[in-house]
Order: sequence, then C-alpha cells, then structure tokens
Amino acid sequence: MSDSSIPAYADTRKIFQQEDIISGNLGLDRLPRFRKTLANEQGLVSLELKFMFGEAKERLIVGGLQAQVNVFCQRCLKPLAIALADDINLALVRDEEAAEQLDAKLDPWICEDHKLDLAELIEEQLILCTPIVSYHESGECIAQKDYVAGEDATESVASESPFAVLRSLKVSNTSD
Ligand SMILES: [Zn+2]
Repeated sequence: MSDSSIPAYADTRKIFQQEDIISGNLGLDRLPRFRKTLANEQGLVSLELKFMFGEAKERLIVGGLQAQVNVFCQRCLKPLAIALADDINLALVRDEEAAEQLDAKLDPWICEDHKLDLAELIEEQLILCTPIVSYHESGECIAQKDYVAGEDATESVASESPFAVLRSLKVSNTSD
C-alpha cells in the first residue's frame, strides 16, 4: 500500500517550526489497536495533519482523517462497511501537568520526548470517532438475506443455538 508517505515518527523539534504538513494513507497493519475493533483487514485510512504554533505558542496539530473500514453489525454480527471522518484539533504537550494548563478548547496530546508517533495519534482519533455500535440498514442484515434466499453454510452453525435454548427451557420447566 502507498502508506510510505506517513513516517513512523515526526520530530517535534522541527515540525512546528517548519509548519510541516503530513498527508497520505495509513494501512490498518500500522493501526493494530484500531484493527482489533474491525471485522477484517480491508480498509483505507487517509489523513492530513498540519503542525503550527498557536497564539500562545501552543504546538497545534490540526487536520482531519477519513476512513473506510468494516466493523461488525451488532444485529447480525456480519461485516458492515462504514465511513469515518473527523477533524483533528490537538495541542501537543509534554505531560499531564501541561495538559491541564491548556486552554479548555484544546484537546491535549501528550508526547514526552521529541518523537511523535503519528500512527498512534491517528489510531486514537479513529477509535474516538468510531460509533460504539453499528447496524446494517433495516432489512439489510446478512443473516436475514441468507434466510430469505435459502442459502446457508453459516446457517448450520447458527441453528445450534435454538436447541440450546430449548434445552435450557426444559430444564427450567422440570424444576417447577
Ligand atoms: Zn447486520
């Protein structure tokens, strides 16, 4: 994939001074924590970050991200394609103490040394902007469609659970 344009680290001693702009794509393999929340490896994350100093010399990171990924539908538990988009408005600080002194309208991003991990920053923003639960459109769930079309393969696995339910019902009946 063409993610070579996004370096692993940015040097915070230079990027704000130079007003650098970093943009390009990131593969999901570079976002392992975000990847764990997804249904599969298919997806694309693109981003643009601008680095600059604010009025009070804060080190600002502004930009945006867009992503096309597959999460699990919480109704049928099958992959569901979603699009994510979010603005990025962060201020780089050295520690928690500096974070607390920031203007309330700025979100802090803590980086203790001069190596800013770009994938980690993007990963956190992606996780924050991903909906907690997602569903296919009404009637679009994959299990429902399979059922209507009479296709199964996955059906046989699913059919084990109704028997388990029956069994547990019997147990509770006899205990009455
Ligand atoms: Zn679904």
